[in-house]
Amino acid sequence: MDELIGKVAGMIRESQRVVVFTGAGVSTESGISDFRSPGGIWSRYDPEDFTIQRFVADREARKRNWRLRRELVTANYQPNAAHRAIAELERIGKLSCVITQNIDGLHHTAGNTEAAIVELHGTMKDAKCLSCDDRLSLIQVLGRIDQGEEDPHCRKCGGLLKAATVSFGEAMPEREMRRAEECSRECDLFIVIGSSLVVFPAASMPLIAKRAGATLVIINSTPTDMDSAADVVIHGMAGSVMEAIMEQVRGQRSGPA
Ligand code: NAD
Repeated sequence: MDELIGKVAGMIRESQRVVVFTGAGVSTESGISDFRSPGGIWSRYDPEDFTIQRFVADREARKRNWRLRRELVTANYQPNAAHRAIAELERIGKLSCVITQNIDGLHHTAGNTEAAIVELHGTMKDAKCLSCDDRLSLIQVLGRIDQGEEDPHCRKCGGLLKAATVSFGEAMPEREMRRAEECSRECDLFIVIGSSLVVFPAASMPLIAKRAGATLVIINSTPTDMDSAADVVIHGMAGSVMEAIMEQVRGQRSGPA
């Protein structure tokens, strides 16, 4: 493992345009469950509730959906060592962007700038109207639920309100997809952290990068289907692995040329 960590640190040092691609696994050390690990969100919630079709059709599914949002939003999760390492990559001028499938906003909290973050699956900080696309904060909607509105609708047009995240079956945000594809095509090093790489089209980004000539690194606690396409695979915990990598990047940067 130490050898692989040194190798990735060397790759970062030699790269000009690093893209980091994160999934739920980058946030489990902050206390947020991923979907598929034992004890993950799918062991407590029905994945079908997270399809746009079910959300639109079923009032009870919408209520369960708001319950999960409340669980996530009120917990006050904090960034961990992996988020901090990614923020450091931006501070030292290596990062072209962090493409995240996560909706938890922890890359913002860790210090990555808005301009460097591409949220492919939206954010749980906001809610949106499915009819007129009006935006409001999720906290505002939860407040209305507390006041007795069990199934809140848009006050402007009467449409359904939903967390501003991309549900299964819902269209991907065009601007973010374009930006993610562009960054993936143009990077020289693409690092996946904490993603099972099974949710498409997000999971096509590492393949786009690799096809365009980038070096591909995968850091994940368990094997992924794309391990065989990667130049380096590290099976370990995102926080400790990224911390060790950045220590070596710093050491190499301040050492003799
Ligand atoms: P996933 O649950 O499919 O995969 C997460 C992967 O991370 C797994 O392979 C797991 O083994 C690995 N992992 C877990 N903890 C880890 C750790 N500490 N270090 C390294 N690896 C670790 O999640 P995914 O690939 O992101 O895709 C599923 C969807 O999950 C995404 O669309 C995302 O929107 C959504 N999601 C987001 C959050 C969040 O915002 N934090 C939480 C749950 C799910």
